[in-house]
Amino acid sequence: MSIPCESEINAFMEEVEAKNPNESEFLQSVREVAEITIPYIEKHPVYKEANILYRMVEPERVIMFRVPWVDRTGRIQVNRGYRVQFSSAIGPYKGGLRFHPSVNLSILKFLGFEQIFKNALTTLPLGGAKGGADFDPKGKSDREVMKFCQSFMTELHRHISKYTDIPAGDIGVGKREIGYLFGQYKRMENEFTGVLTGKDLNWGGSLIRPEATGYGTVYFMVEMLKKAKEDFEGKRVAISGSGNVAQFAIEKIIELKGKILTVSDSSGYVYAKDGFTTDHLKFMMELKNKERGRVSEMADKFSELEYFENEPAWNLPCEVDMVIPCATQNELDEQHAQNLIEKGVRFVGEGANMPCTTDAVHLFQEKKVLFGPGKAVNAGGVAASGLEMAQNALQLSWERGKVEEKLLFIMKNIHAQCVHYGEDKHGEIDYVKGANLAGFVKVANAMIDQGAV
Ligand code: NDP
Repeated sequence: MSIPCESEINAFMEEVEAKNPNESEFLQSVREVAEITIPYIEKHPVYKEANILYRMVEPERVIMFRVPWVDRTGRIQVNRGYRVQFSSAIGPYKGGLRFHPSVNLSILKFLGFEQIFKNALTTLPLGGAKGGADFDPKGKSDREVMKFCQSFMTELHRHISKYTDIPAGDIGVGKREIGYLFGQYKRMENEFTGVLTGKDLNWGGSLIRPEATGYGTVYFMVEMLKKAKEDFEGKRVAISGSGNVAQFAIEKIIELKGKILTVSDSSGYVYAKDGFTTDHLKFMMELKNKERGRVSEMADKFSELEYFENEPAWNLPCEVDMVIPCATQNELDEQHAQNLIEKGVRFVGEGANMPCTTDAVHLFQEKKVLFGPGKAVNAGGVAASGLEMAQNALQLSWERGKVEEKLLFIMKNIHAQCVHYGEDKHGEIDYVKGANLAGFVKVANAMIDQGAV
C-alpha cells in the first residue's frame, strides 16, 4: 500500500521511536495518526509552524506510583499504578483505568493518545488520559479488590478532581472497582463530587452509561450500513470478547435482527451456528458479571453452542458479513484479516481500542472492506461519561430516553465527521482518515489558540 509523504512520516517516526524506545503499542498508535495527519499538515503549514504533531505525541504529564496492599493471607503485595494525563487542550483529562497484568506504560500511552482524538470526536469538552495498574482482579476476593483500589486511590487522589482529571472504567475496572475507588476519594478529599464516571445509579451514575460503548458501536455501524444502503437485518456478525462492550453490542444487534455468530474470552471462543439468542446473552451476562466464569461454560449449558479452546473468534467456520472486535489491542492480525476476507467480511468496526494490527487495517482497506477505527466507533462510552459529568454538575439525573437520544445524536455526528473528512470524490469513505483528521483539526486548533503550553 503506497502512503503519501512516506519520507516525512518515517523521519517523524524515527524521532518518536528514539524518544520512546520499546513502546510498541504507543508507536503503533502514533504511526496511524502520523500517516493521516502529516500529508494534511504538509498542505496546512499553520500546523507545521506551531510544531503541533511533535507537541501532541508528548504527554502533558505521566504519573507512575507504587501500590502496596495486603492480600488475604496477610502478605504485602505491590503493583505499579499509572495515570497518563495526555492532553487538556479541549477539556479536563478524561479516560479510563485498566487493571490487567499486561498493563505497562506503552499500553497506557497508546490508550491515552487515542483518547485525545476520540474525545474530540464526541463534540464534548473532554481532554485525553488513561491510567491503571498491572493488577489482576481475576481470582481475587472482593475484599482484596477493595484493598487494592483504596491503595491505588490513596496516591491517585492528589492528581485528579472534577476540574482536572475524571477517570472511568476499562478492562478489569467495572462498577465494583469504581465504587471502591470513589469511596476512597470521597474519604480522602471529604468531597462528594463527580470525579469518576461509571458510578452506580444510586450515587451519581447515569442511565445508559453501562450500555453506551456497546450501543454506541452499533449506532455507528448502523450509520455505516445506511451509507452503503444496507441494514443489520440478517447480517452475520462475528464478535470477540464477552465483557461490557461485547455484551451491549450483542444486545443491540439482536434487537436489530442481526445474527451474532461468536463470542470469546482469553481462553477461547464460542460459536453459535444459528446465532446467539437473548437467552444465551442473559446466561453470558450472569456468567461474566456475577460469577466471573469462562465462556466455555456456555457450551456446557447449551448443546447448540460449540466451544473452540485457545482459538480466536476470527477462525470461525462459516461466512461472515461484519466483524466487531470487542476484547483487546492487537487481537486481530493480518492472517485473521485474510481469513475473514475469504469468508466474505465487508464491514469492520472496532468496539475495542486498536484491536486490529496496522497490517490488518491496511489489508481491510486494500480489499475495500469498510473499516471503522475504535476512536470513532467506540466513542459512545466516553460520550456517555461526558453526559454523566454534565448531570453531576447540574446535580440531577436525566431519564433513560434522554441520555440514549443524546448518545444516538453524538454517534451520528461522529459518523458524519468521519464522512466529512474521509470521503473522496468517488464517494468512497476512508473512516481511518476521517476520524483522525476530524479529531486532529479540533485539538490542533485549540492548541494554537492557547499558545505554547
Ligand atoms: P471487560 O473487562 O468488560 O471485557 C474484556 C473482554 O475481553 C473479556 O471478555 C476478556 O476475557 C476479553 N479479553 C481480554 N483479553 C483478551 C485476549 N487476549 N483474547 C481474547 N479475549 C480477551 O472490558 P471492556 O468490555 O470494558 O473493554 C473491551 C475493550 O473495549 C478494551 O479494548 C477497552 O479499552 C475498550 N473500550 C471500553 C470502553 C468501556 O466503556 N468499557 C470504552 C471504549 C473502549 P477474559 O474474561 O478472559 O479476561
